[in-house]
Amino acid sequence: MPSALPISLEKLEEIAQKYGTPFHLYDEKIIKNRAQKLKNAFKKTNGFRQYFAVKGNPNPQILKIFSAEGFGMDTSSIAELELCKRIGISGENIMFSSNGTSILDFQKAYELGAIINIDDISLIDILREAVPKFPELICFRINPGNLKKGNEIIGNPIEAKFGITMDQILPAYRKAQELGAKRFGIHTMTGSNMLDEQYFPETAILLSNIALQLQKELGITVEFINIGGGFGIPYRPNDHDLDIEKIGSDIEKVLHTTFGENPPKLFTESGRWPIGPAGWLVTRVNNKKEIYKKYAVMDACMADLMRPGMYGAYHHITVPGKENENTEKIDVVGSLCENNDKFAIDRELPKLERGDLLVIHDTGAHGRAMCFNYNGKLRTQEVLLQEDGTTRLIRRKETLEDYFATLLF
Ligand SMILES: *Cc1c(COP(=O)(O)O)cnc(C)c1O
Repeated sequence: MPSALPISLEKLEEIAQKYGTPFHLYDEKIIKNRAQKLKNAFKKTNGFRQYFAVKGNPNPQILKIFSAEGFGMDTSSIAELELCKRIGISGENIMFSSNGTSILDFQKAYELGAIINIDDISLIDILREAVPKFPELICFRINPGNLKKGNEIIGNPIEAKFGITMDQILPAYRKAQELGAKRFGIHTMTGSNMLDEQYFPETAILLSNIALQLQKELGITVEFINIGGGFGIPYRPNDHDLDIEKIGSDIEKVLHTTFGENPPKLFTESGRWPIGPAGWLVTRVNNKKEIYKKYAVMDACMADLMRPGMYGAYHHITVPGKENENTEKIDVVGSLCENNDKFAIDRELPKLERGDLLVIHDTGAHGRAMCFNYNGKLRTQEVLLQEDGTTRLIRRKETLEDYFATLLF
């Protein structure tokens, strides 16, 4: 089931009056509950650590909530590293999993003491050139090719641009060893928004076997295996909740069976699962349009939530206060001059009129994070519903001045 909005229509209307629409709303209590649920699911696995994938929701106030719950941060750009630095997160509390990594990227990650996760063999020399001393702790991102299936969001591993091949594993780790690396991790990230519990212990088996091979061939004791993110959430009414307790205990069994009493630590870097269901995009109907089809044209558009337009992603939509009214089939669209600017197509919704508040569900991850400026759209604001029931603006909306700030007249 999509995540229900935890407040009444009156409260929602009050927030909408206060900040204006549209806005992304997040619920602090839900965020904390999910963080704790994730930690609990893996509490029996050795040295478990979750690194929040910052790209899912790069707001410092959100990152602080996760950090207080003991999460590290998974980053892949200089800006994401800087974000961590500015809220006091550094060292091995950061994973740096970038691809196409530049000298400057590596330097920034090194400066902060982040765990560097290398995406390709060709990047080893770039890293060596970037830093005064080759890092002691190194991780490689592995692309298992045919050994794993992906999905439409991330692509099939064999066609995905990420990671090193199975054949490149030994040469990569050997080279890192020669350059002075002494501590090692293994990483992979193949599937996104997976609702199949089995997928994750399979990943753990794959990485465990690689760890055994590294031990045997190179004498490396792998310190951690990082199974990446990819935990799915129920965007559709018929989707089930991912059973992460089962995933946790199945992975614990895999590690125990393979390594006995002294397994490598287990890391995850989930982005969508902890925050996706804790966010909603709230928007008002600007006008109702009836031509060959019926349209509700919202004051939000694809620039505020790209997922439906970009990969046909489903987001549930509700109209608070109109739950019991007659429905009709309608397209819910924005004001961008692009015809894929549609939040929903032929969706059965209560009869809408100008001024109605619509709630687009499960936008906490890859929602505001993917906002863009095309067509001169100003990126939207974020509001946090705090545990005590009060709200706080945690990112203001962009202004025309922001938009013009980079233009040279
Ligand atoms: C995007 C990403 C994640 C997070 O994926 P989710 O599907 O949001 O859990 C984790 N690791 C890497 C390297 C990523 O690029």
